Amino acid sequence: MATTSVDTATHGARPGPSRVGVLLPLPFPGPFDYAVPPGLEGLLAPGDLVRVPLGRREETGVVWDAHTSVPPDFAPPQPPPVATARLRPVVARVDVPPLPTGLRRFVDWVAAYTLSPPGMVLAMALRACSTEVPRVVQGWVATDTPPADLRMTPARRRVLDALARSAPQGGADLQRAADVGASVLRGLEQSGALRMVPMDAAPPFPTPDPDHHPPRLSGDQDDAAAALRACVAERQFSVTLLEGVTGSGKTEIYLEAVAACLAQGQQALVLLPEIALSAQWTARFERRFGVAPAVWHSDLTPRLRRQTWRAVRDGQVRVLVGARSALFLPFETLGVIIVDEEHETAFKQEDGVTYHARDMAIVRARLAQAPAILVSATPSLETLTNVETGRYGRIALGARHGGATMPDVEAIDMRADPPERGLFLSPRLVEAMRATFAREEQAMLFLNRRGYAPLTLCRTCGHRMECPNCSAWLVEHRARRILTCHHCGYVEPIPDACPSCQTSGSLTPIGPGVERITEEARATFPDARLLVMTSDTLTSPTATAAAVAQIADRTVDLVIGTQIVAKGWHFPHLTLAGIVDADLGLGGGDLRAAERSVQLLHQVAGRTGRAQAQGRVLLQSYVPEHPVMQALVSGDFAAFMAREAEQRRPGHWPPFGRLAAIIVSADSAEAADAVADALGRCAPAFDGVDVLGPAPAPLALLRGRHRRRLLLRARRTIAVQPIVRRWLSMVKTGGSTRVDVDIDPVSFL
Ligand code: ADP
Ligand code: ZN
Ligand code: ZN
Repeated sequence: MATTSVDTATHGARPGPSRVGVLLPLPFPGPFDYAVPPGLEGLLAPGDLVRVPLGRREETGVVWDAHTSVPPDFAPPQPPPVATARLRPVVARVDVPPLPTGLRRFVDWVAAYTLSPPGMVLAMALRACSTEVPRVVQGWVATDTPPADLRMTPARRRVLDALARSAPQGGADLQRAADVGASVLRGLEQSGALRMVPMDAAPPFPTPDPDHHPPRLSGDQDDAAAALRACVAERQFSVTLLEGVTGSGKTEIYLEAVAACLAQGQQALVLLPEIALSAQWTARFERRFGVAPAVWHSDLTPRLRRQTWRAVRDGQVRVLVGARSALFLPFETLGVIIVDEEHETAFKQEDGVTYHARDMAIVRARLAQAPAILVSATPSLETLTNVETGRYGRIALGARHGGATMPDVEAIDMRADPPERGLFLSPRLVEAMRATFAREEQAMLFLNRRGYAPLTLCRTCGHRMECPNCSAWLVEHRARRILTCHHCGYVEPIPDACPSCQTSGSLTPIGPGVERITEEARATFPDARLLVMTSDTLTSPTATAAAVAQIADRTVDLVIGTQIVAKGWHFPHLTLAGIVDADLGLGGGDLRAAERSVQLLHQVAGRTGRAQAQGRVLLQSYVPEHPVMQALVSGDFAAFMAREAEQRRPGHWPPFGRLAAIIVSADSAEAADAVADALGRCAPAFDGVDVLGPAPAPLALLRGRHRRRLLLRARRTIAVQPIVRRWLSMVKTGGSTRVDVDIDPVSFL
């Protein structure tokens, strides 16, 4: 712990305020006041990290200033101030760079908007900001003058080769890279060929060069890039949608906005919906700018997180690509924020502080006076509506780059062309796959369902295998011989006999998951080289990168996967995509089910035909006349979205109105009902606001907790936060009962 100790009194310091507000990363309604002890008078400024007493503990918090960016009725009511004489003193100032103003205002804004305790939002911003002095780690480098008489062995050669590619390296990393034991390293050290250096000395975040390898852009690409560069040059807040079919060069173009930002000496932030994507993205960035970008996601080692946090704070990181939590990094000179695949629901964080990273990226850009660029082939209705009303600009790219054409999309009517009994691939799809393999091209089967079968049923008594903790079926994972719950992780072995009627051999898998489709494909195409891409088979970004490389290298003929295959991958030899169950996303009564299906399936389709060969997409559907299938077949998304808009507008559904979901959960159904009913009785009801529910949530039982939902719907012009805050304050909760608020809900489970 490095701190400026209180008793190292600085004489002659300016007299500071005798009290400071300190926000703690804990669920309190706001900052607490502390006394500034004599030794720290005049030394504490907003953003400084401090150690303060809290009860019998000591906590690290941040000196907080009054928020001015948040409308007053958005902010939670604050308790009356405590008399200065009764305040406890700050213990010490922590020797960490202060949190920049922009980030502090962002924390206030997110807290007020999401109705979260500001401390919980601060906790996200502090997650990687260690208050420990960075421990100096030693790493190996080759000596500048290796001994002439060094006895060379293959193992020693591998060590020196590995160090030539990247230096310095930690002992464990180096041993792995060179496949040697520790004794080889020690031997090399003794002979004077290796030595230890402090690893932090190496600059880990080199500056990208905007002029390293600029692309040659086509006419409308060039116009689009120029327009984005102009946004960056304005150094003002604006939001622009960059729209264009998959493969039209959107990434290529927004990297030009990044280049402009770099040339201006500012920092750029690129948000991706999924960290899995970052490997291919990083390689592409490196080709354009000569060095890798900084990366931010939950899989970083704590050490790298700390280094990245500090390097963002001191401006060393110039471009960072990351998952949604990257929004909470301490950028001080943001010049542009880019949200790639802006329509993706993965941008919505569902647990803890629930926030939508796309929407909060726009807030962050506004606070930083920087442009935001939203990128998509299938923009969300929210964004399209903002374009229509003139709040966002729009830049559209016409066609795929380099003459590649959009795939042909056809629906297979499963009623007319059914698969054989017990199988799931229709003869037409199988035929198309056969032809694809014969041309030595690649095919993909997409099914957004993990495991072998989504339901296990007893043929004798009809019993369904359900999760004991959730209102959900157990999913069979045949490879692991288990039934598991995808909501809570509950696992049990597949029983021999039905637990209800005891008949043995009567349990039957119903419906397909990717494992079952893989089994069918393997039986149908025994010679095809298969690759399965799901979160079960790709457990790390490295594994994902390896799988993607296999596809690019054509050591795979058939890719079978869940939504992970739909991401922005560039697979040049893939020419056929079979959507095993195009109807899967349509059920459930979700407000955005149709929109989301179109976006997801179009994204899958977009993986095909990205080079010269024509791509083809086959949608297996029992409702080929459905507007979703029609939109995919015709490729007319504008018409589809216009129809969506007309369905949502009259009822003031988003984006034409606002929603706030209230989720009540408790250990018992009675306790959940009591609070949900009480909330229902005092629900706000006035012109422009109504409340639906309470009703059992679709997942009425989740991880053993009983759940009820209420949904507040308001006209667009009405801010829901003050209404919800007042409403929730009228009902007492206690015991096991929790009330969670989800502003702008995306999931209705
Ligand atoms: P999108 O992001 O719209 O899907 P990409 O930016 O990934 O499109 O471009 C698709 C493919 O076309 C990529 O391989 C990209 O490198 C290539 N490409 C696009 N524009 C150009 C260009 N002007 N010059 C060279 N290659 C390009
Ligand atoms: Zn039974
Ligand atoms: Zn469960």
